Amino acid sequence: MSSIASTAGIVSFEQARRLVEVHAVGVSPAQAESVELLDGLGRVLAEEIVADRDFPPFDRATRDGYAVRAADLAKIPARLEIVGEVKAGDWPEPSSCTVRPGQAVGIMTGASLPTGADAVVMVEHTASAAQEFHPDPAQNATSGWSPLAGRFVEIQRAVAAGENFVPRGTEARAAQLLLNRGRRLDHAAIAIAASVGKSRVPVFRKPRVAVLSTGDEVVEIDATPRPAQIRNSNSYSLAAQVSAAGAEPVRLAIAPDERRRLRVLIEEGLECDLLLLTGGVSMGKYDLVEQVLGQLKAEFYFTGAQIQPGKPVVFGSCGAGALARVPSTNSPSARERPPAPPKKYFFGLPGNPVSTMVTFELFARPMIEALAGMTPQPLLFLRARLKSEIRTKTGLKRFLPAVLSGEFENAEVELARWQGSGDIAALARANCYVVIPPDRERIEAGEWVPLLMR
Ligand code: AMP
Ligand code: MG
Repeated sequence: MSSIASTAGIVSFEQARRLVEVHAVGVSPAQAESVELLDGLGRVLAEEIVADRDFPPFDRATRDGYAVRAADLAKIPARLEIVGEVKAGDWPEPSSCTVRPGQAVGIMTGASLPTGADAVVMVEHTASAAQEFHPDPAQNATSGWSPLAGRFVEIQRAVAAGENFVPRGTEARAAQLLLNRGRRLDHAAIAIAASVGKSRVPVFRKPRVAVLSTGDEVVEIDATPRPAQIRNSNSYSLAAQVSAAGAEPVRLAIAPDERRRLRVLIEEGLECDLLLLTGGVSMGKYDLVEQVLGQLKAEFYFTGAQIQPGKPVVFGSCGAGALARVPSTNSPSARERPPAPPKKYFFGLPGNPVSTMVTFELFARPMIEALAGMTPQPLLFLRARLKSEIRTKTGLKRFLPAVLSGEFENAEVELARWQGSGDIAALARANCYVVIPPDRERIEAGEWVPLLMR
C-alpha cells in the first residue's frame, strides 16, 4: 500500500461527500457566453433573470364564465345583465367595458378582468336567463353556451371576491428575480426566460473534463480483444456521465500500468478543468495511480470511502506548484512571476464499471456542477417500499443497483440480480440504487428504503 493511502485515509460516505462539497464551493466557473435560448437547455445561467413586467401583466381570468361583482351574488340564483364579452388578448377599455352593480361580462380563460368586476363565475354554474327577460325569441336562441346568448345570465353559485382570477403582479412584480445565476436551465426555466423575452441567454462555458482509463488489460472499443483483454467501456460511460452533468468530456488514450506513460497522460489530463481516472486505485501491485499522483505532489483529501461499490475511490488535487512550468533560465523573482495556474482537482475512480459509475454520481458530479457554475445541490434520496428482503454485511454504506417498478402510488423497489461491481448488464437493467446504511444486516420486505435514482 502506498504511503499516500495511509496518510489521507478512508472516510465515511458522508465525510467523503462533504469533503467534495467543501472543495466544490471554492472553484470558479469558466467565462460566460451568450447562446440561443434552446441551446441553453442543460446549461447554467451566468446572470440572473428578472421579470421585465408584472406577472401576470393584468388581472387574468382562470376560468371561462362571467366577470361579476361578488356582492351581487348575496342571493342565489341571481340574474345579471350581460354587458359585454372579453376574450384572451382583448383589452377591456373601462369606457366601453365596465361591470356595474347588477351586471356581468362574459370572459374567457386568459382574458383580462374588466373594471368593476372582482370575481369570475364559472360558466358551469350559470344558465342563460334570456327567456325570462326577452320576449323576442330571436334574441334568445341558445344552443350550448355562448356568453352573449341572451342579455341576461342566471348565476347559480356564489363566488367570493378574488375567485377565479390571478391579480396583476401576484406571481412576480416587474424587476423581481425569477431565475438565479447558477441555475441549470430545464424546460421550466426555459419557459421563464421565454416569458420575459430572452431569445438568447447568458450561460457559463462548459468545463472540460479529462477522462483517463488505466489498465494493461484495457483496449480500445474498436479493437478485437485478446482472450484476457477487455474493452474500455469506462471512458465511454464516464464521458456520457460528464456530458449529462453539463461538462465537455475529453477522452484521453488508455494508460498502461506503467509509471512513465501514466504520468505523461495524467499531466495531459491536468490541463483540463478536472481529471477523472479509472482503475489502478486498489491495493494491487500494479495499481499505480496514487503513486504517480504522489510524484506530482498531489494533495489527497481521501483515498477511500466506506461504501460498496467503490471503496477505493480517491479525491485530491495537484496544487499550483506542481503544475507550474519551471522556467529553465533567468528565473524571474517571485514578484515578477506570472500568477500560478489554479489547482486542479482529480478523482481516481475504481475500475470496476459499476463502481466507476456509482462513484462518479456520488462524488465527481458535484465538482463538475460547481465547475460548470451551478449552485451546489444536496444529494436527495427518495423512498420506496422494499419488495423482497435484503440480507447483507455491516460496515459499508451500500448503493446497490435496483429496479423501481409498479404504477401510480404502488411503486416498489427490489435489488437487481447482479454478479458484483463488474456487472454492467445488471446496472443497465436497474433504474436506481437502494441505499443501505452500514449498520443494517437485514431489511425486511415492506420496509421503506432510501433510494437514489440514476
Ligand atoms: P482496477 O480498478 O484497475 O483494479 O480494475 C478493476 C476491474 O475493472 C478489473 O476487472 C478491470 O479489468 C476492470 N476495468 C478497469 N478499467 C476498465 C475500463 N476502462 N473499462 C472496463 N473495465 C475496466
Ligand atoms: Mg487496473
